[in-house]
Amino acid sequence: MNTDKYRVKVGKKVKLQDFPTSYNGSLTKEEVYEQLLPANQEKLAQYQEALYAENRRGLIIILQAMDAAGKDGTIEHVFSALNPQGTVVTPFKEPSDEELDHDYLWRAFRALPRRGNIAVFNRSHYEDVLVTRVHNLLPKQQIPEFLVDDQIWNRRFREISNFEQYLTDNGFTIVKFFLHISKEEQKQRLLARIEEEEKNWKFSASDVSERRYWSEYQEAYEDLLAHTSTESCPWYVIPADRKWFSRYLVSEIMVDVFEKIDPQFPELPPEEKAHLERWKEVLENDD
Ligand code: ATP
Ligand code: MG
Repeated sequence: MNTDKYRVKVGKKVKLQDFPTSYNGSLTKEEVYEQLLPANQEKLAQYQEALYAENRRGLIIILQAMDAAGKDGTIEHVFSALNPQGTVVTPFKEPSDEELDHDYLWRAFRALPRRGNIAVFNRSHYEDVLVTRVHNLLPKQQIPEFLVDDQIWNRRFREISNFEQYLTDNGFTIVKFFLHISKEEQKQRLLARIEEEEKNWKFSASDVSERRYWSEYQEAYEDLLAHTSTESCPWYVIPADRKWFSRYLVSEIMVDVFEKIDPQFPELPPEEKAHLERWKEVLENDD
């Protein structure tokens, strides 16, 4: 599949209305769930093993979305293929007092993966140019007042890009997904959380009240997508009205990303290989 059309081009203005929320190609849900997605999961698991064995590079996957767009389901259906031993999923919730007492990237630093590992950010440092912006939460962030001016969001875009470039330059690849859902589909999913008892636990009244800020959020997303999609750390806008397609597309992009990283199992030096032969003999002669 050509995943390039879902990538946000560098330095271009972004109008989310130009990006589809729904898939209407020829793939079917059945072939995705029965063949294509499992095949990709298998590939991801193999790549991950090599990444882990190589122990040089790391991967950071960022998931951002409006409420009910399917972040949790994507983690469950795509990243469940990964070995928990080398994967850490971190949810970025409302910051704690301790987190608020630091700069906004502090908690992102703390969630970074070791070499050989994969970090999945369920929300991320991007909340600090989203919810913080839409709800004007800066006064809560203890930042000196003179630093809060009309350039703060542009500065944060630059800071985030620098942070991500720094990680790239140190061997960590960053992939960013925005699950793009329509307002109508979100309404249906929130209704389902009310109407279907087994989904009640997912319902949160604030998800409904946040809908009043829908267009402010979309604008904040457009701004950050335009400013922080770079050649090395691109954003992908994933049509998310059909869960099966968004999961599959994320898995396709992940396979592409791994193909580029192409992690290699380490080759043992000849003297260690000879060592193995000797230990084999010892074991074979053991009772
Ligand atoms: P679900 O889909 O299960 O609801 P979620 O990611 O929405 O998952 P919640 O606990 O419902 O999880 O929401 C986390 C909340 O924390 C979001 O409303 C998000 O905007 C908020 N949040 C995250 N980072 C920040 C931040 N830096 N400042 C303020 N609020 C934040
Ligand atoms: Mg929520």
